Amino acid sequence: MFEREIPFFDYKKIYGENSNSLHEIFESVGRRGAYIMQSDLRDFEKNIGLILKNEFVLGVANATDGLEILLQLKGLKKGDEIIISSHTMLATAGSIISQGGTPIPVDISDDWLISPEAIESAITKRTVGIMPTQLNGRCCDMDKILKIANKYSLFVIEDSAQALGATFRNVPAGTFESGGCFSFYPAKTLGCLGDGGAIVLKNSQDYENAKKIRDHGRCEQKEKILWGRNSRLDNLQAAFLNYFLTTYRQSINKRRDLANCYHERLKNVVELRLPPKPCDGDYFDIFQNFEITASNRDDLREYLSSHGVGTLVQWGGLGIHQLSQLGFDQYLPNVDTFFKNCIMLPMNQFLNTSDVEYVSDLIKNFYAENK
Ligand SMILES: *Cc1c(COP(=O)(O)O)cnc(C)c1O
Repeated sequence: MFEREIPFFDYKKIYGENSNSLHEIFESVGRRGAYIMQSDLRDFEKNIGLILKNEFVLGVANATDGLEILLQLKGLKKGDEIIISSHTMLATAGSIISQGGTPIPVDISDDWLISPEAIESAITKRTVGIMPTQLNGRCCDMDKILKIANKYSLFVIEDSAQALGATFRNVPAGTFESGGCFSFYPAKTLGCLGDGGAIVLKNSQDYENAKKIRDHGRCEQKEKILWGRNSRLDNLQAAFLNYFLTTYRQSINKRRDLANCYHERLKNVVELRLPPKPCDGDYFDIFQNFEITASNRDDLREYLSSHGVGTLVQWGGLGIHQLSQLGFDQYLPNVDTFFKNCIMLPMNQFLNTSDVEYVSDLIKNFYAENK
C-alpha cells in the first residue's frame, strides 16, 4: 500500500529481532528459578553503574516509582513546592503529589528544556526542590540549575527517565545532585519486555534506605525498618536488559547518526526548527526522541501518516500547566506555543539512514506542495 511503512516505534521488533537470545535468557532464568532479586539484577545494577560512573544504582519497577522513592528520602511536608518543567511527562508531577508535595510547572527556554530564569522566578518560601527533566535524551544546562539550587538551598532530583548515558560537561544525567531515575519502558533507548526502571543515588546512606524502600522497607535489624513498598525490578527483565545493554553503545551511536542524517536533509527547510545536532562539546545527547517544531504541524502529520510514516505529539500535546482539571492555572506562553507546533519524527534503533531520508524527503515534498 505504501512505498515504505515506518511506524513511529515497532514494538514487535524488540522481540522479533532478538528472539533466539531472549528465549535462551528466559530458559536460563526459569531453570534457575531466579525470579526476584537474583544475580541478573545485581549484575544489571553494576552495568548501569558503569554507564553512570556511580556505584549507587538500584533496579526498581518503573521510573515513576523511582522518582517517588527519591522524593520519599527527602521527607516532604504538606505544602512543600517543587519546581518542574511544564514540558514533561505527567509522572514528574504525579510523583510529587504521591509524596504530599506540590508540583509547580514553569516555562521552557529556547532549548525547549526547563528555563533557569523561570525556575528562579518561581521560588517561594515553600520551595524545597527542583526536578528538571533531561528531555528527549538531552541534559539541561545543569551548571545554571545547580547554581540556583545552591543559592536557595534546594535539592535537585532529575527526571532522567529519557536520558541513560546522556551527559552535560561529562557528568551523566541522573548524577548531578540528589539522584535521578531511568525508565526501561519498551520504547525507551534501553527498553525491556514490559515495565522496568532504575534509580541512582548520591551516597551510601540514601542507597541503603532506597534499597529497603523498594522491598517493603524490610531490614534484618529491627530498628532500621522503615515504611516501604514493593518496587522490585523483575530479575527476568534485568536479565533481558543485561542482554540489550551489550549493544547499548552502538544503539546510541546509531541514533546520533540518524539525527545527523535528519539535520543534513532538513537543514534548509525554513518551516522547521530542529534540535541541536549531535556534538561532542558540553552536551552528549542520546536522542531518545527527535522532536522538532513545524509550521502547519497537523497537516504535516496527516501527510506523513498518509504515506505510511508514524509520528507522535509528545504527552498528548499538552503541557502540565494546561491540565486545569488537576488544579494547574499557570500562564506559560513558551510551552503553549511549543505544543502548537511540536512533533516527534521516527527515531529508534530499528531505523536506518534510508528510512530517515525517506521521511525527510516526504517533509520537503509537503512544504513544496503547501507554499
Ligand atoms: C517514560 C518517562 C517517565 C515514566 O517512566 P515509567 O518507567 O513508565 O514510569 C517519566 N518521566 C519521563 C520524562 C519519561 O519519559
